[in-house]
Amino acid sequence: MKDLMKINHLSTHFNTENGTVKAVNDVSLRVRQGETVCIVGESGCGKSVTAMSIMGLVEEPGGKVVNGQIEFEGRDLLKLSKNELRSIRGNEISMIFQEPMSSLNPVLKIGQQIMEPLLVHQKLSKKEARKRAIELIEKVGISRAEQIADAYPHELSGGMLQRIMIAIAISGNPKLLIADEPTTALDVTIQAQILDILRQFKEQNNMSIMLITHDLGVVAEMADYVIVMYAGKIVEEGEVVKLFQSPKHPYTQGLLKSKPIINQRTDELYSIPGQVPNPLELTESCYFHDRCQHCMDICRTKQPVLKEVGEQQKAACWLYEEALVHA
Ligand code: SF4
Ligand code: MG
Repeated sequence: MKDLMKINHLSTHFNTENGTVKAVNDVSLRVRQGETVCIVGESGCGKSVTAMSIMGLVEEPGGKVVNGQIEFEGRDLLKLSKNELRSIRGNEISMIFQEPMSSLNPVLKIGQQIMEPLLVHQKLSKKEARKRAIELIEKVGISRAEQIADAYPHELSGGMLQRIMIAIAISGNPKLLIADEPTTALDVTIQAQILDILRQFKEQNNMSIMLITHDLGVVAEMADYVIVMYAGKIVEEGEVVKLFQSPKHPYTQGLLKSKPIINQRTDELYSIPGQVPNPLELTESCYFHDRCQHCMDICRTKQPVLKEVGEQQKAACWLYEEALVHA
C-alpha cells in the first residue's frame, strides 16, 4: 500500500499562563492508501491535537505547531498557504467530530449545508448540487431523503446528524477522512451503523481513515493499524491483530485488560491505577513511570524511544532494551 500521509516529528505546543504544554511531542506516523489507522489513548493524550494539526486548525497565539512535517501525497501541509490548505481541507482531507451539532449551522436546512461544499469546491450548479445532496443522504442510509434535506438540524436525532456529517465529509470523495470520536455520543446500535457506513465508504472509494477514539471496541472493529498515545507521545504502535494479541508496552497492556466487547460502548478506558502526569511537569523520564508496575531506575531519568519490538510493532519502553534486560 502506498503512503498517503506521513507525519514526521510533529510537535504542537500550547502556551498557558503556567507554562508550555507539549500536547503533541515528537510524533511520527503514516497512513497508507485505503488503510484505517486508529489513534487511541485517554483524553488529553494528544490524539485530537494531532488531528487539528493536520487540519491546520491549531489556533495561534496559544497553540502552535512548533516542529515537524505533515506530508500529504508528498506536499508538506505545514508549508501551504491558508488558501491551498483550505482547498485540500474539505476536498482531499475531511474531518468529522464527536458533536455534529457544533459543526452544523442551526438556521440552515440540512440540504443547503450538504450543497454548500458542492457549490464551492466542486462548482456544481444549484440543481446538480441538490440532486447530489439527496443522493448523499441516501448513501448514508437515510430514507425520505427529500424530506430530510428540507429539515433543520434540531429536527434530527444525533445519529441522523452524524450521518449527515459523514455525507458532507465524503461529498468531495476525500482521500483521507479524519474522524475524532465520531460515535462517542451515540448509543450502541447507532454507533455500529455509523461504523458500518464508514467502512463501506472506505472500501468503495479506497479511502483512508484516521480514527481517533478512546474505545477499544471501536479499534478492534475498525483498525488496520493502531497507534497508542500517552501524554503527547506514541508509546506503542502496530498492526491491529498483533497489538491486541501481544501488547508490549505496559500502558497498552493495561488498556487491554478491559477486554473490548465489540458493539458495546465504553465511556472510559479501563482505569490504570495512578494519574496521567501533569503536562506542565514532564521530566526526562518515561511519562508512564508513576503508574507502571515494571518501573526500573532508568525509567525515572531517561526517556525510552520508540523502536521495533516485533514484526510491524514498535514500543517505547526500557523493558525491550536488550542491553538493559540482559545486564
Ligand atoms: Fe514501565 Fe519503564 Fe517501560 Fe516506562 S519504560 S513503561 S516505566 S518499564
Ligand atoms: Mg479529543
